[in-house]
Amino acid sequence: MKRLGALTSDQAWAEIKPWWDMVQDMAETGFFAEVDAKVSRATDGYINIRDPRTSPWWAYAQLHKAAYSLVMALVQEREITAANAKAFEKASQVLLVSDYKPRKNIVWSNWYEKVKAAIGVVQRVLTAPSKTADNKFLVGPFEVVNSVGKSSADLAPLVKLLDVVVQKVKQLPVSGLERVLYGRVMLTGQIKKNARLAAWYDIAEDQLWVRVGKYDLDFLHTVIHELGHRWWRKFASKSVKSAWEQHHLVMGFGSVEIPRLHVGDPLPIQVKGVKGNPVIVAETGKYWEIDAKDSKGRPILLDRMSVYDAMHNNAKRRLFPTLYSSTDAEEHFCEALGLWALGDLKEPHLSAIKSAVSK
Ligand SMILES: [Zn+2]
Repeated sequence: MKRLGALTSDQAWAEIKPWWDMVQDMAETGFFAEVDAKVSRATDGYINIRDPRTSPWWAYAQLHKAAYSLVMALVQEREITAANAKAFEKASQVLLVSDYKPRKNIVWSNWYEKVKAAIGVVQRVLTAPSKTADNKFLVGPFEVVNSVGKSSADLAPLVKLLDVVVQKVKQLPVSGLERVLYGRVMLTGQIKKNARLAAWYDIAEDQLWVRVGKYDLDFLHTVIHELGHRWWRKFASKSVKSAWEQHHLVMGFGSVEIPRLHVGDPLPIQVKGVKGNPVIVAETGKYWEIDAKDSKGRPILLDRMSVYDAMHNNAKRRLFPTLYSSTDAEEHFCEALGLWALGDLKEPHLSAIKSAVSK
């Protein structure tokens, strides 16, 4: 569940404009080129990233932060035609970054050129007409807003899946759950933010967002999970919530045992690029060496604490229906609801959710 910006696109543009002006100034006065040259001269390739005289990281942070609301507002408001959908998607990928710290090896002049192109596209979309009714269609109780300029053939699989979602939600024996079946479903492309997610629910706007083109079982689970948030926030009774919170607490306090490992033991976790369970052959400092080599033929060293972390996560995953469920009672409920709808919820969670929703 993510909050999306509540600004209109004009307001969002007014927010980003001063930062964009400043970044353009920096480019025109040669600041980016100067920093790039300094980085390449520095023997260790490092300059003080927190010093505004040597690093434009703060301009980067402000610009990308402001860009988020702008992109979200444009997707909601403006007609994004098939002709500029691709360019807009690319621009979104440039502007939406997963955190507001530049990569260590960023080349500032290249960054500027990319952002400049992206802002150009955004400005074009800003002056595009507002969305028309032609862009909207009904799937059962949902009004789907085709904000990605896709053809109806492209969207056929999505329509089918939304139909399945509606059926599944109606089948679950949760009183009042069918009340979540209403409202707008906004479509989005491969924007970088939330790239892993097939869907998310914007609480402030009470609106469901769905990613186009990621259609699998995960899609069904995620959309039902997000509708679970709507139910939890708007319709779940206090007694249901407190029964479920009780279950969440009991699970959370369940003890997980993490055995200590020693040289000679097989690793109880998977290591990327290594088949099976390699054996620990040596212990050096905070690392274990395992009897496997990386792609360059070097022995693989693993941070011992990271191994224990992974073991802890695996153990927790066994206490909860999914690892993410351990986040909080609400996320746990939504995860369980999604699995339940797909017939994948195991005990003791199945009995727990059945009992909680009957309260
Ligand atoms: Zn969630």
